[in-house]
Amino acid sequence: MRGIRVRQLAGIVRQRSVAWLIFSLALLFSSVFFSTAIAATVNGVRMWAGPDNTRLVFDISGPIDHKIFMLSSPNRIVVDMQNTRLRGQPTGLNFSDGVVTDLRSGARNGRDLRMVLDLKGKVRPKSFLLKPTKQYGHRLVIDLQDARAKQSRKVKRQASYEPKGSARDVIVAIDAGHGGDDPGATGRRGTREKDVVLAIARELERLIKKERGMRPVMIRRGDYFVGLKDRRKKARELKADLFISIHADAFRNGRARGTSVYVLSQGSATSKAAKWLAENENNSDLIGGVSLDDKDDLLGSVLLDLSRNASIAASLDVGGKVLQHLKVIGRVHKDRVEQAGFAVLKAPDIPSILVETGYISNRYEENNLRSKKHQRKLASAMLSGVRGYFRNNAPPGTLLAQVDRKHTIRRGETLSGIASKYRISQRTLRSTNQLALNTVLKIGQTLRIPVM
Ligand SMILES: [Zn+2]
Repeated sequence: MRGIRVRQLAGIVRQRSVAWLIFSLALLFSSVFFSTAIAATVNGVRMWAGPDNTRLVFDISGPIDHKIFMLSSPNRIVVDMQNTRLRGQPTGLNFSDGVVTDLRSGARNGRDLRMVLDLKGKVRPKSFLLKPTKQYGHRLVIDLQDARAKQSRKVKRQASYEPKGSARDVIVAIDAGHGGDDPGATGRRGTREKDVVLAIARELERLIKKERGMRPVMIRRGDYFVGLKDRRKKARELKADLFISIHADAFRNGRARGTSVYVLSQGSATSKAAKWLAENENNSDLIGGVSLDDKDDLLGSVLLDLSRNASIAASLDVGGKVLQHLKVIGRVHKDRVEQAGFAVLKAPDIPSILVETGYISNRYEENNLRSKKHQRKLASAMLSGVRGYFRNNAPPGTLLAQVDRKHTIRRGETLSGIASKYRISQRTLRSTNQLALNTVLKIGQTLRIPVM
């Protein structure tokens, strides 16, 4: 079309005056300019379903104007994108989870693109544009909050927080880093941080469930995005006594190896690497489109600072214990707990640590991080550290805070005999005293008998 026009124009130029030439050229340039400025394209659609939120990300060639509205019977969301075309048909979308059951598209007014999302029920839609980051170009993000899911979760939460008898469990919030449109770091074999850290988090959840006096809560259960501030908020809502964020980042240097434990710093970072990593982690919000403005930092009250200082001291304590146990299973990157300004760790009242379970950028560690056996080892090292911390720091009113009795072993006694005497299981007795399965009891040795 444009080619024909140019050829026609060439014919005209030969015959007509210079004035015509100028006029025609101006017309040609304006039409060329106009057509490149308006035609944005949608190059792909990605979707993730969380427990109460479904997120769609449209990868677009540039910023666009759009409108979004809901229609009922049947429930659907309409997204109109001005002067936009769809390149190819979206593929690989999984409609089995979340609120969206189908995605259709059509042209409107010859220039606009209309996308229709069929829904299972009513939602609260939100949409925003995101600027390019390292991994992605321009994006239009649509968040669909499922109203029903939120209500049912609230009810469930109330029901599950009845204390058991007089003493409660300590609650450990497990936070698998990244998720959804934020994949985190990627290894050479294509391993994504968001996937391996979720696997390790699930392993830790499984172990803590079996632990007397402890209960795990998961900040992220699947492959979806949760903002850094929302992670802290969720931990507080779930009344967590401890917050563990699990990561497996990349480093510029592919040879960097080892696990590390980080806690929040009030001032400057303890090393360049810690600072670099914190900045990298805090980018998660930029990728997922949450503002980094930290409103509770603005409060700046003395009380907040005091409780933050106290929880940093507690965080260093639990971080040190976790690091000790990580040392047993492999190389550690730094011999001490490092500190930097991690946004996810900024809960003023909950001791919080961030565990880098290894460098996904290192070929050897990438393979390790993919292995179920290694994931289990990491989780069990974290649990040992947590157990050690709560042994001396159990919050008042928890089962772990109750003073245990002591039993001194006499000749002829067996573990099963002692367990049945105090009406506890052998497993509890073993885990309280950190006894391996094949431990031989010594006469005169004292055992802690947990209060049940
Ligand atoms: Zn990370």
